[in-house]
Amino acid sequence: MPIPDMMRAMVLEKPGQPLRAMDVPVPRPGPGQVLIRVHACGVCRTDLHIMDGELAHPKLPLIPGHEIAGEVVQLGEGTTAFAVGDRVGVPWLGWTDGDCHYCRKGQENVCDNARFTGYTLDGGYAQFTVADQRYCFPLPAAYSYPDAAPLLCAGLIGYRSYRMAGEDVERLGIYGFGAAAHIIAQVAVHQGKKLYAFTRPGDESSKEFARRLGAAWAGDSDKAPPEPLDAALIFAPVGELVPAALRATAKCGTVVCGGIHMSDIPRFAYSLLWGERVVRSVANLTRQDGEELLAIAPQVPVKTEVQLFPLEQANEALDRLRRGQIEGAAVLIMPVG
Ligand SMILES: [Zn+2]
Ligand SMILES: [Zn+2]
Repeated sequence: MPIPDMMRAMVLEKPGQPLRAMDVPVPRPGPGQVLIRVHACGVCRTDLHIMDGELAHPKLPLIPGHEIAGEVVQLGEGTTAFAVGDRVGVPWLGWTDGDCHYCRKGQENVCDNARFTGYTLDGGYAQFTVADQRYCFPLPAAYSYPDAAPLLCAGLIGYRSYRMAGEDVERLGIYGFGAAAHIIAQVAVHQGKKLYAFTRPGDESSKEFARRLGAAWAGDSDKAPPEPLDAALIFAPVGELVPAALRATAKCGTVVCGGIHMSDIPRFAYSLLWGERVVRSVANLTRQDGEELLAIAPQVPVKTEVQLFPLEQANEALDRLRRGQIEGAAVLIMPVG
């Protein structure tokens, strides 16, 4: 299929406004980049944080979207990691400098000069996108484009959060049973963890969803689990969940905050932290996280549950995500042509 000059895209012109459907030029791949025909792009809560102005200084105008699954259609100068026709995924981490204090220590996820797909670089809410070959992943053959898309952020950030909970965790709590949770729950259950799912009080359908994915217990986030947790992952952007999770966690347990933005954490008694409990955040991802998760996912096998929307219904998908009306992950499908 020839590459057109113009493409359909959903564009953020200014935070606080809905995305606008526009025709924009198809980007050209620079040195070391690939041009990708986007087939599917996941909708992530971070996209809402960017649109709401909760993440400062996005590129503007911006094409959001950082769970991109597509096909390489053109190579930039010196691009050798992929060939035309390869199926690739593009995650949130789009570029790092490779030589700051953090990159030199293998912590590229917190690179001082990192660039992020769909935030400081244009992303995948469009028919085409360009990406640096070094930050793209080959997609596992077992996954269709729409099924693969949620692995690229919900899966990767979820996996990094899961890893940070520690190796010897038996009883794992997950707060917020959305896209990340539904992927990591499957990995955790496969690896023999006992899973406790916490949802918005009264959200019975999410509890049912969690049980279906293997949770031993599902309850309201303001309730105590039947036994203390060894670790808890928080995927909902709600600061109140930090003391709630600490209260549910045993001595030496870790509470991992997996989101990029969270409302303020209310003050809490030191006794909740006492006993060598740990609270930590997880920031972005490393390429190693991506390689590991994409290797593990087909073995489990992780089955993503996706709700599909045509590209031009991106605002509708985002609204539904905001209202907690997405089971699993929302994914945009691009128009052909
Ligand atoms: Zn994301
Ligand atoms: Zn760096």
